[in-house]
Amino acid sequence: MIQALRGMKDIMPPESERFVYILDTAAKIARRYGYDYMETPLLEETALFKRSVGESSDIVGKEMYQFIDKGGHDVCLRPEGTAGIVRAFIQNRLDRKGGVHRFYYHGPMFRYERPQKGRLREFHQFGCESFGEGSVYEDFTIILMIKDIFDALGIGYSIKINSLGCPECMPGYRETLVTHLNDIRDGLCEDCQRRIETNPIRVLDCKNTHCQELLEHSPVIVENLCETCDSDFVRLTRMLDSHAIEYELDPKLVRGLDYYTRTAFEFVSSEIGAQSAIAGGGRYNRLVEFLGGKPTPAVGFALGIERIMELVKLPEKGREGIYLGVMEPEALDTVLKIAHEKRKSETVFVEYARRSLKAHLKAADRLGAKLCAVIGEDELKAGQIWVKDLETKEERRIAFDQFD
Ligand SMILES: [Zn+2]
Ligand SMILES: [Zn+2]
Repeated sequence: MIQALRGMKDIMPPESERFVYILDTAAKIARRYGYDYMETPLLEETALFKRSVGESSDIVGKEMYQFIDKGGHDVCLRPEGTAGIVRAFIQNRLDRKGGVHRFYYHGPMFRYERPQKGRLREFHQFGCESFGEGSVYEDFTIILMIKDIFDALGIGYSIKINSLGCPECMPGYRETLVTHLNDIRDGLCEDCQRRIETNPIRVLDCKNTHCQELLEHSPVIVENLCETCDSDFVRLTRMLDSHAIEYELDPKLVRGLDYYTRTAFEFVSSEIGAQSAIAGGGRYNRLVEFLGGKPTPAVGFALGIERIMELVKLPEKGREGIYLGVMEPEALDTVLKIAHEKRKSETVFVEYARRSLKAHLKAADRLGAKLCAVIGEDELKAGQIWVKDLETKEERRIAFDQFD
């Protein structure tokens, strides 16, 4: 028997209902915030991710589903969603057009990681990207939108924010940090020591507890921001305060790539093991330019569907739909016509085989139908259908054309 690949999972009913509910809820809220749907290919040139996600990252360095296709092209299954959206944004010349463009997307992402609890090699994300709006109000609005989505899904969370500065203030901060890191160098883990040269900002989010103790007194970015970055960050925190949205300043929330600027945020849940990020994002004012487009401010986020699946509370669902059955084979033709009519507005289950009334009622109950409607010999002669409401237990006999 052929099985699904390691780290890849079928999403079967009834779990799939939860999956669809998350997507529908998130998409509905994103549309209210003015986002339009965008679909981009799962397969892209490897160079796109090398340039955007960065060659020094684990994602690109170790985890890509990368191969040479039959035409000799170096291609890769997307490990994340933003790169493809930005490529499409530039390719469709929206960067030249100017104005604000907002998109939402969702779909599978692929990372060749060691499969472990909560980590899949194929997983799903929902995300939004807003282009052309440089105002920090847009960052605030995106945080508000994610809050709306998690609130609608009934998921508890806490919010972490940070600012990553800009090309004006980041280099100076980086120097200050490197000086400090070199002072404590000997106590840091090997990864950190290497990163002091390659990507010093990433040292801050090392998961090693010994490193974290040593890093406690590191200089923090928010205290080294230029005037514009600082006033934006202050404005963001004021707006969160005035909307009574709780958050925590986290100087260790860093992304370590040059195109990330200013606002960075994470939504964290403590309901799935140790504080796990369930959504993350921020401003990336330099990525469009990085990928060859006209400089365009941008901000976005992505949330992991599998991560939040078990946290979502599905709305209570009562009985729904109509079950149609026959006790006389000749009545099937009429039943199929009624079914077709009813399906214009409702869920309809049809049992083709002749059954006893008791068997039909049992089947309707099992399917969770609200109405069980059956045509027997008497009903067929009279042009009627027997209907029982399985909620109210009320029974009636009505003419075919009055069944509504
Ligand atoms: Zn700055
Ligand atoms: Zn370390």
